[in-house]
Amino acid sequence: MSTVVTLIPGDGIGPSITAATVKVLEAAGADVEWDERLAGVAAVTTHHTPIPEETLESIKRTRVSLKGPLTTPVGTGFRSINVALRKEFDLYANVRPALTLQTGGRYEGIDLVLIRENTEGLYVGVEHYIGVGDDPHAAAESVMIITRFGAERIVRYAFEYAVSHGRKKVTLAHKANILKFTQGLFLDVGRAVAKEYEGRVEFEDRIIDATAMLLVLNPYQFDVLVMENMFGDILSDQMAGLVGGLGMAPGGNIGRDAAIFEPVHGSAPDIAGRGIANPTAMLLAGCMLMEHLDQHDVSTRVRDSIRHTLESRVTVTPDVGGKARTEEYADAVIANLE
Ligand code: NAD
Repeated sequence: MSTVVTLIPGDGIGPSITAATVKVLEAAGADVEWDERLAGVAAVTTHHTPIPEETLESIKRTRVSLKGPLTTPVGTGFRSINVALRKEFDLYANVRPALTLQTGGRYEGIDLVLIRENTEGLYVGVEHYIGVGDDPHAAAESVMIITRFGAERIVRYAFEYAVSHGRKKVTLAHKANILKFTQGLFLDVGRAVAKEYEGRVEFEDRIIDATAMLLVLNPYQFDVLVMENMFGDILSDQMAGLVGGLGMAPGGNIGRDAAIFEPVHGSAPDIAGRGIANPTAMLLAGCMLMEHLDQHDVSTRVRDSIRHTLESRVTVTPDVGGKARTEEYADAVIANLE
């Protein structure tokens, strides 16, 4: 029986890159049944909320979703719909691989995975202004929260990921030299978890700013990287830059009871409706979904075909130097499937 997957096309370029992705995955033999649901601006007109209850119910049922980018509508009470979805399903691990698929960039042969803590840190949304005299916004304060529980489960996830994917090293990046309590706790917990994997997975810890520099100087020294929420947000975009930019970057949001796969980029309102969006990041999110469902042959075929199609440099979208439209590129990926 096919696995049912909640499909959320999303906003802006979302529906076109989702259609392209579904077409390619099905052509590659994906054994899934899509339960298509609305979220984001797309849901507001019909359901008066960016996260309709029936969409949440679908994810609760299927426990797995492929999601396009969502625009957070202004004035709906949500800081970010994406953050709200991650919180709703406690999707604590954000897995962001950076893999070279197109040669000729600044670096060749990049194969890194960043594991970002997805629920704590500065993203807990505890912030406020402090008024002084007649200036209500004289100062502002944001609170970073790190818990032993949260730190332990994300570092353990990184080590388990390394073990199950045959990776050799985990680098924990932090700022414990300055943020001695929050980052200090993250580092202490990380070191303790690392001990359990001694002899199986190499471990190192590095200060976040040095890590950012070393990623540019010599990214090959890294393998799996793990860090708290905001550092992970920033460094995963930097790592996307090593392999051709946001159009190449997928992400998986993984929890104990559910997983949502998505491109790292947003809804790209500047090019929405023009038919030129690059669906590669969404396709790679689809590959991560296939791996999650143990359909590894499908993800390997799609990834090989993407590599082949990008390499030919003929039928590729304008952001990577071509003239092809979204569906022309998707058709080329289908034609190159082996
Ligand atoms: P963006 O990622 O949408 O766009 C940044 C730039 O990259 C734009 O010039 C865009 O045209 C280009 N781009 C992005 N994806 C592309 C693709 N697949 N092909 C070709 N070019 C691409 O970032 P933004 O403009 O800051 O955000 C727009 C909206 O998306 C905002 O409402 C934001 O909240 C939302 N957003 C959603 C997610 C998500 O759903 N996970 C992530 C980031 C931003």
